[in-house]
Amino acid sequence: MLKLNYDEIIEKIVTEKGVTKEEVEKKIVEKIANLSDLISKEGAAHIIANQYGIKLFENFAPRDYKISEIAKGVNGINVAGKILTDFEVREFNTPKRQGKLGFCSIGDESGVIRLVIWDEKIIDNLKVNAKKDSILKINDAYSRDNNGYLEIHLGSRGKAVLNPEGLVIGEVKQVSAEVGYSKKNIIELKADDRAEIYGTIVQVYEPRYYDACEKCGKKVLEQEGVQSCKDHGTVVAKKSPVFNFFFDDASANIRVVCFAQLAEEVLGKSGNELSVLKPEEVELYTKKLLGKQMVIQGRVNKNINFDRLEFVANSVKGADPVEVLESLK
Ligand SMILES: [Zn+2]
Repeated sequence: MLKLNYDEIIEKIVTEKGVTKEEVEKKIVEKIANLSDLISKEGAAHIIANQYGIKLFENFAPRDYKISEIAKGVNGINVAGKILTDFEVREFNTPKRQGKLGFCSIGDESGVIRLVIWDEKIIDNLKVNAKKDSILKINDAYSRDNNGYLEIHLGSRGKAVLNPEGLVIGEVKQVSAEVGYSKKNIIELKADDRAEIYGTIVQVYEPRYYDACEKCGKKVLEQEGVQSCKDHGTVVAKKSPVFNFFFDDASANIRVVCFAQLAEEVLGKSGNELSVLKPEEVELYTKKLLGKQMVIQGRVNKNINFDRLEFVANSVKGADPVEVLESLK
């Protein structure tokens, strides 16, 4: 269950840790005071739960990944790709175990990854039916690091569906999935790390906007009042937001920077919609994001002007409540 409310979080801490409700609430009040009242009660409760070592994310149901988003050591991966190689089966016979393994590479618009299958029924099915260019959707796989290259492994808990109806994979990007985003605590982050962090929004800043091409999202050039895109000529520009917030995972907090579509995803409104609101309406609206829990993948950037680390988001999960509910099904 991802979206625990304030009372549910407290109840979870009390039952799992055998502390009193008063103790927990006192800590939450202190946390709110520490963060100068910038955090919601719920957000503070999430942080305190983390401090008690209670993982509110523990029961993450399998969720959908693009290949490039997969990090090592992740469970519950749902991913789809085009089969790029012949499906190969190898038998093994060791004193401990005997059986067979199935292999192939799959690719999507973001990259290519090797797939290792341990389940005999799935192997037998794919051996007969998998063709090059078939689309394969696998559910509940896990990732492994094999000499710096990522693999996804599908065991008996997993599922594989060939050519699921309605699923289309675009042009495959021929980039091998190398060890991608590793899960980290914020306190461990160093410049240039690619990491996945889990936490809570504890402070928000007013979004800023730039004029972007409606077709490709690039910043438009303006000459004599006419806006144009290098690739698309004269265009109608849209307001593309840049949204910054502080993100706390109990180990530390960091400023997260989200651009354009990602910013809109987190904000739940487009730049065009937000930029016409009054400042106080924007403030009220963005304050509602305080306490929101998310999983963010991105890169750590050293901002030299301010001598601080920032986390530039490449993907966010849990930003859209509908998406979260879907991924829990
Ligand atoms: Zn353009």
